[in-house]
Amino acid sequence: MNRRQRNAKIIATLGPASSSKEKIKELFLAGADVFRLNFSHGTHADHTERLNTIREVEKEVGRPIGVLLDLQGPKLRVGTFAEGKIHLNVGDKFRFDMQDIPGDKTRVMLKHPEIFAAIKPGTNLLVDDGKVRVRVDACGRDFAETTVVVPGAISDRKGVNVPDAVLPISPLTPKDLKDLDYALGLGIDWVALSFVQRPEDIIEAREIIGDRAWIMAKLEKPMAMDHLEEITRLCDGIMVARGDLGVEMPPEYVPEMQRRMVSTCRRLGKPVVIATQMLESMINSPVPTRAEASDVATAIYEGSDTVMLSAESASGNFPVEAIAMMDRIIKRVEQDPVYQKNVDAARTPPEATVPDAVCGALGEITGLIRPAATITYTSSGFTALRAARERPSTPILGLTPSIQTARRLTFCWGVHPLPFQEIDRVQQMVELGCSAAKTEGFAKQGDNVVIIAGLPFGQSGTTNLLHIAKVD
Ligand code: PEP
Repeated sequence: MNRRQRNAKIIATLGPASSSKEKIKELFLAGADVFRLNFSHGTHADHTERLNTIREVEKEVGRPIGVLLDLQGPKLRVGTFAEGKIHLNVGDKFRFDMQDIPGDKTRVMLKHPEIFAAIKPGTNLLVDDGKVRVRVDACGRDFAETTVVVPGAISDRKGVNVPDAVLPISPLTPKDLKDLDYALGLGIDWVALSFVQRPEDIIEAREIIGDRAWIMAKLEKPMAMDHLEEITRLCDGIMVARGDLGVEMPPEYVPEMQRRMVSTCRRLGKPVVIATQMLESMINSPVPTRAEASDVATAIYEGSDTVMLSAESASGNFPVEAIAMMDRIIKRVEQDPVYQKNVDAARTPPEATVPDAVCGALGEITGLIRPAATITYTSSGFTALRAARERPSTPILGLTPSIQTARRLTFCWGVHPLPFQEIDRVQQMVELGCSAAKTEGFAKQGDNVVIIAGLPFGQSGTTNLLHIAKVD
C-alpha cells in the first residue's frame, strides 16, 4: 500500500541529477507520481535507461508510475558567429538570412524559411528567451532586415521566437518523429507536444500516435490561446508551459493565461499541468522562496491537476527536497477549508450526457453522505476522468484491467489508479471493489463507498451505473 495523502499530482523531470535507480525511487517515495523524459536533452540510450529504471522502481513499489515523453518540437535557432558571440545596441541594424557562413555584428544565419514566409515589416523577433528583441523593417523569402529594440548579446545557436505570427510548421519535426517512433516502441504513457499553434496540430499528432499514448498540448504560443477551447477538446491534457509562454508574451500576461487554461480544462474535464520555475531557487537551495511556495499553492487553489518540476529535479542540487516540498505544499493547501470552497465554487455544471448525469450525482452524493471513497471501474480511463471532473470530496480509486490506463491516470487529480482484474459481473465488481478500497487504505468495514462504472464492461464512454455499497 502506497497511497498518497493528497489529490493533486507531481511530475518530476529526470536528468543528470536524478537518473540512478536509488534517486528515482527516492523521488517516487518523496511524492513524484509521474516522470518526464525531456527529449530536448539526452540520447535515446539515456532515456531508455531511465524508462527501464522507472519500470523497475514501479515493480518494487507496487504502484503504477506515469511517464511523459516531452518532444523538443520546432525550436528555431540562429547559426553560429565567427567570434562565438556579438553584442547589439538599440537602433543597430541586423540581418537574418539563409547563408551558411558564420555571423558577425551585422548578420547571422537563420535557416528557417518558414519564419521568412510568416513575418512582415513590424513583426518582432525574440532571440535567446526574449533577452534581445528586434523589429523587422523589410523581408523576403530568405532574409529579414531588422532594427534592434531591446539590446543584448547573441551567441551561437540561440533560440528565436516569433510571437506575432502563426508559423506554417508542423509541431512534429523530423527529430520529433524519430523520437516518437522510438519512445512509443518502448511504451510511454503521455506525449507532450511543444509549441502547439493550431487544433490541426493535435489532429496531425493523433494520426501518428493513435491510442498508443495520451496527448498533452504544451501551450506556449499566444496564437494557441485563440484556439484554446478547440485544442483542449482535441487533446487529452494541457501543460501551461510558462517558460516559453513568458517569452512569447510579456510575463505579466502569464498568470491570466494560466487561469484561462486551468478553467477551460476544468470545464472540459481534461488534466492540466502547471510547469516551469515552480521551485526554481531549489536548484541551488534546500528551501524555496516564499513566493515560489505561494506559486505552487496558487496552482493548487486554482484547481490544477498536476504541478511540475523541471531543472529542480533534473539537474538541481536538491531534487528530493524539491519534490518533498511540493508534496507538503499541496497537502497543506488541500486541508484548508478555503480550498474546498474554491473547488466547489469553480464547479462547472455536468454536460447533458449519461456519464455526466452519473458523475453529477456522484458530486451530490459525496457532499451529502460523505462516503469513504469513490470507486471507478474503468477500461479507457474515461469514467475516472469524468468522476475527477466533479472534484468529489472523496478519493477516487481508478480500478482498471489495463496497466496503460492505470499509468495514464497518474496525471489526474484525485485518482489512485490500481491495475485490476477483468470484471464481467456487477456483483463481482462491488465485492472486489470494496475489498480493494479496504486493502489500499481508503475504507474500513462499515464505511459507505460509491461505485461508478459503465455497462457493458470494457466499452469506453458508457458510464451509466452508480451504486452505493457498505464495506463488509
Ligand atoms: C516551458 O517552456 O515552460 C516548458 C515546460 O517547456 P521546455 O521545458 O521544453 O522548454
